[in-house]
Amino acid sequence: MPIRIPVVERILQANDDLADQVRARLDSAGLLALNLMASPGAGKTLLIQETVRRLRDRLRIGYVNGDIATSLDAERVAVYDLPVVQVNTGGDCHLDAAMLAPALDQLPLGRLDLLLVENVGNLVCPANFRLGTHLNVLIASVPEGDDKPYKYPGMYRGVDVIVLNKIDLLPYIPFDLDRFLHGVRILNPDLTVFQLSALKGDGLDAWTEWLAQRVAAQRRAA
Ligand code: MG
Ligand code: ZN
Repeated sequence: MPIRIPVVERILQANDDLADQVRARLDSAGLLALNLMASPGAGKTLLIQETVRRLRDRLRIGYVNGDIATSLDAERVAVYDLPVVQVNTGGDCHLDAAMLAPALDQLPLGRLDLLLVENVGNLVCPANFRLGTHLNVLIASVPEGDDKPYKYPGMYRGVDVIVLNKIDLLPYIPFDLDRFLHGVRILNPDLTVFQLSALKGDGLDAWTEWLAQRVAAQRRAA
C-alpha cells in the first residue's frame, strides 16, 4: 500500500506539467478553451451542437471529443463544418493533458476563438486531471437527481460553471431545484449556474451570450 500513493502523485504531477504546457499554447493562440464534463446522457453533445449553431457566425470554434470508443459525437458536431478532432481513450474514463496535447496539433489554434473539449462522460475522475483549458464546465441534468452535488463533491467543487440541462423536465421529475442549488453553493459559493434546455432552447441565449463575453475578455487579455 505505501507504494501506490507516490505513484499516483507522480502521475498527477506529470499531468499537471503537461497541462501547464497546454495552457501556454492556448494562451499564446489567444483563444478560450472549455473542458466540458458530465455524466453520460446529461446532454453534453446536444449542448455543444446548439452552442456551435448559435455562435458560429460570430466566433471561430473548434471541437475536441473525448470518448472511450466511436466517433459518434464528433460526427454530430462536424455537420456544422468546424475543425473537429476525435480522441478515443481506448477504455480510459477521462481525458488527460497527454491526450489533449496531440489533438491540439491537429487544430488551427491561431485561427480559433473558442475551443470546446468534451470530456468522457463520468462524474468522478475527469475532475482530477487538469487539461490546461481555461474553464471547467459541469453539465448536470434534471433526470440525474437533485442529490448529485452532495454525492460528487469533488466534481462540483472543481468546476467554474454549472449548466443545469433538461429544465423542461422539471414538471415531470421529482427534482428539488432549491436542494440542488443549495448543495452547489455549499461546495462552491461563487459558481456561475445556468439553467437551460438544450433541446427546447430555454435559457440557451444567456449561456451563449456569457460565453461570447468570456471569449471577448480572453482576446483582450491576450
Ligand atoms: Mg457526448
Ligand atoms: Zn478516469
